[in-house]
Amino acid sequence: MTIDLRSDTITKPTPEMLTAMCEAEVGDDVWGDDPTVKALEAKAAEQFGVEAALFCASGTMTNQIAIRALTQPNDQVICDQLAHIYNYEGGGIASNALLSVRLVTGERGKIAPQQVVENINPDDIHFPVTRLVALENTVNKGGGNYYTIKEIEAIWEVCQQHQLKLHLDGARLFNALVETGDSPKDYGKYFDTISLCLSKGLGCPVGSVLLGTDETIKKARRIRKVMGGGWRQAGFLAAAGIYALDHHVTRLKEDHQRAKEVGKLLQATSFIKKVFPVDTNIVVGEVVEDLQIPEVVATLAAQDIKVSTFGRRYIRLVTHLHFDDEALTTLATRLKKLTLPVAS
Ligand SMILES: *Cc1c(COP(=O)(O)O)cnc(C)c1O
Repeated sequence: MTIDLRSDTITKPTPEMLTAMCEAEVGDDVWGDDPTVKALEAKAAEQFGVEAALFCASGTMTNQIAIRALTQPNDQVICDQLAHIYNYEGGGIASNALLSVRLVTGERGKIAPQQVVENINPDDIHFPVTRLVALENTVNKGGGNYYTIKEIEAIWEVCQQHQLKLHLDGARLFNALVETGDSPKDYGKYFDTISLCLSKGLGCPVGSVLLGTDETIKKARRIRKVMGGGWRQAGFLAAAGIYALDHHVTRLKEDHQRAKEVGKLLQATSFIKKVFPVDTNIVVGEVVEDLQIPEVVATLAAQDIKVSTFGRRYIRLVTHLHFDDEALTTLATRLKKLTLPVAS
């Protein structure tokens, strides 16, 4: 059995999800004719208490569309240096929205309200106009740590005071919600736009949803078309999303419990110096100085354990729908017999 913990995106639809997909009623979504896409959009909007939603192909697409919809060319966006929108979206902020980025160094990717205040440009023609703050919850590169709604409210207040828009990259927002018990409607209240991924822990094959006002989503739909993201009988994919929202949210808690176990197992190995606190479904471990990342990854791969990396010192393991208790036991057995040659 391959233990694939590279990402929570590697999951395949369960038989029940596949059935829901096959039974979907579909139409041409570019023509506004797909009832299942409309049902997914309505369901997500309702859950978060917002006016509208837009079903898109990826989280990168929903983030990029949102950033463009909320800004003007030459504006500036404030985000943490670990942000996905900055690190992992191919520099799209520059080409899709024509923005510059003001990076701040938060606490494992979490920004404090004061950092927003300190990074707002003065009203002076030399400086780009600070227009948008973008947060990420949970923080991928921070190791799956999360904001509470109280922390978000404080940032929202600063944004209100300074007329800044607020976007959330909520690729794994449901992982945060099952830990905090915070209400999706509060999120809907504080953010101008929210991007949710269905293809991560929720186990869908494809898809993200963008949430916002009627006006913003109308604009977003236009931008999606320009990006080539208008799609036809997308209801087959939307049906997976509806199924996931109904059946795969509360079970995320299991992923978090297993991630904690994975963290303990990793900490007990000879090749990991330190494991980040495990808050949700992401486990990040710092490799001991004597070893190089490729060696560690290859040794694990030889045991049929797949992991991903963050930079040159960290490995990342993400738990998901297919990583059950049996897989955890198998992982434990394989890790225990694994000895990496540590140079003395
Ligand atoms: C995965 C991810 C995205 C979007 O990814 P896609 O692969 O484009 O769907 C955005 N933000 C974060 C934090 C992510 O982990």
